[in-house]
Amino acid sequence: MTTTALITGANKGIGYEIARQFGEQGITAIVGARDEERGRAAADRLGQPYVRLDVTDEAGVQAAAEWIEREYGALDILVNNAGVAVLQDDLRPSATSAAALRQTYEVNVFGVVIVTNAMLPLLRKAPAARIVNLSSELGSLTVAADPDSPFWPRNFLAYNSSKSALNMLTLSYAKELWGTPIKVNLANPGFCATDLNAHTGFRTAEQGAAVAVRLATLDADGPTGAFFQEEGPLPW
Ligand code: NAP
Repeated sequence: MTTTALITGANKGIGYEIARQFGEQGITAIVGARDEERGRAAADRLGQPYVRLDVTDEAGVQAAAEWIEREYGALDILVNNAGVAVLQDDLRPSATSAAALRQTYEVNVFGVVIVTNAMLPLLRKAPAARIVNLSSELGSLTVAADPDSPFWPRNFLAYNSSKSALNMLTLSYAKELWGTPIKVNLANPGFCATDLNAHTGFRTAEQGAAVAVRLATLDADGPTGAFFQEEGPLPW
């Protein structure tokens, strides 16, 4: 039986790498991307299917779910990877506009809810579905509150708080699905060189994708409602 996965924002960066690594395992990795041309080009490179998916467009996401149901009947893996870091000249919290906060939350928070709610009926049809949400150490309250942490100066109000919100909503879904075969976990890829950070990261997208792929392919004994990076669990 084939395993089918949907990855949001899979036309480039870590999402593309997750789709590539799924392919290596024989998983059908549906490349979700908002731009049809770039999405199809990525899917063609990977030899995988493409679906148009802007995570902020509820009707479009619903149409994508209907297409997946028609083509595959169920969904085994959902990776909520699409994310943004909205650029501003001055990133101090006091200089962050509500508009920048809204723009960030539309994708990093509300988009995850829109996609998860639309895909959940398909995930419930799979024997043991896995949901993986791409978070960050910058979303950890424990890390953010530690003056000795190397992340202390990286005080980005919109991005960091969007990932903290994502952490809580991941836990909320894990609790709703507690006792079902569905597992819902958070992956921190680490600081990877991608367009998100103008390629300043010191890890590769390939390295960053690995933890998400591992959480997406956990067996029945694996955790749910957990926050992981490559080296192990992260503090909330
Ligand atoms: P990236 O290279 O900038 O890729 C982001 C992806 O999200 C792109 O495919 C982008 O599509 C897509 N996206 C943005 N808005 C979207 C929308 N409304 N609908 C659908 N797709 C949308 O960034 P990345 O580094 O691979 O990031 C992937 C995830 O890892 C993000 O959630 C990020 O927060 C997280 N993360 C990254 C790092 C890091 O160091 N890179 C660290 C921790 C966590 P377009 O090409 O159309 O813009």
